[in-house]
Amino acid sequence: MANFQEEIINWYLINKRDLPWRNTQDPYKIWLSEIILQQTRVQQGLPYYLKFLKAFPRIDDFAQASEQDVLALWQGLGYYSRARNMRKTAIQIMDLFNGEFPKTEKELLSLFGVGKYSAAAIGSFAFKLPLAVVDGNVYRVLSRVFNIDTPIDTPQGQRAFQELASTLLPRHTPDTYNQAIMEFGALQCTPKSPDCFNCVLSTICIGRMEKNIDVLPVKIKSIKTRNRFFAYQVFIDDDNKTIIQERGPKDIWQGLYEFPLLEFESEELIMNFMNTEASKIREVSNVIRHKLTHQLIFAYFIVYSKAELPNDLKPNQKAMPFSNIHSLPMSRLMEKFLESVNPILFA
Ligand code: SF4
Repeated sequence: MANFQEEIINWYLINKRDLPWRNTQDPYKIWLSEIILQQTRVQQGLPYYLKFLKAFPRIDDFAQASEQDVLALWQGLGYYSRARNMRKTAIQIMDLFNGEFPKTEKELLSLFGVGKYSAAAIGSFAFKLPLAVVDGNVYRVLSRVFNIDTPIDTPQGQRAFQELASTLLPRHTPDTYNQAIMEFGALQCTPKSPDCFNCVLSTICIGRMEKNIDVLPVKIKSIKTRNRFFAYQVFIDDDNKTIIQERGPKDIWQGLYEFPLLEFESEELIMNFMNTEASKIREVSNVIRHKLTHQLIFAYFIVYSKAELPNDLKPNQKAMPFSNIHSLPMSRLMEKFLESVNPILFA
């Protein structure tokens, strides 16, 4: 155990990436980075971290921002509930904790969007609380080094790994050790091609000795992907106004804006619909495939010939100049279409 801790920390001190949130003990900055980096690679998350810090240098700046401002900054990062929860957390900290981040695990867990992992990360990095982080990297490193095949997506597995991680945590340097094991998983003991030949743990790594690396960590559930078929209606009138709508709750992209959307059961039904609308259609985009964690979206953007905009708008819809829609928070799928579109079409 002592070998494991020492090797991991020594490796980290030599190999760690210089990332801005590692040079601070400010819980606000650490929280910001942790929430942004959930489900997001460092390279992708870094510009967002800097952008958020510039827009909201302190927690009270964040708490005063509108949801639309926060979503606009978050645009392109996915999992928009994280952005909404961050704003709620900032307000919660101002209202319930006098603008100071709480310093106990229990209180950290009471914050919106902060689960066991984030509470351990914020608590250990900012306040040196003895809380062990267990994320995907930690599961991988521990399952391989200790050759554990208990599935990590079961309560039993999660409990076992959490206990092992807590046992291994050095009480005097929980911050450095937690950073070290996650960085080790991200750079050295990677999912597909771990660098076992140049690994400081190769002599104690049981998974390697038993030739089990390829199958560790074990997961029992495979994620099912649901296919969805979207047809966006891009209306445009002689003044280059279009219709845009806000997405509602209980589905992806709540609070983001998009063109009026029709959802179908299959691509074939979209084709049938386009045939019935053929006389009014000016252009149709190629199909855009957009992958989310549990969904694969096949989207067509149907651009109608210039005409009066439909006047029976729904409460969540509004007409606005086409050139202004970029100011609204939108999904990456909408951005993909707008990036591909010929601006002359809307001139
Ligand atoms: S020897 Fe290979 S599998 Fe074991 S910890 Fe090192 S990189 Fe990971």
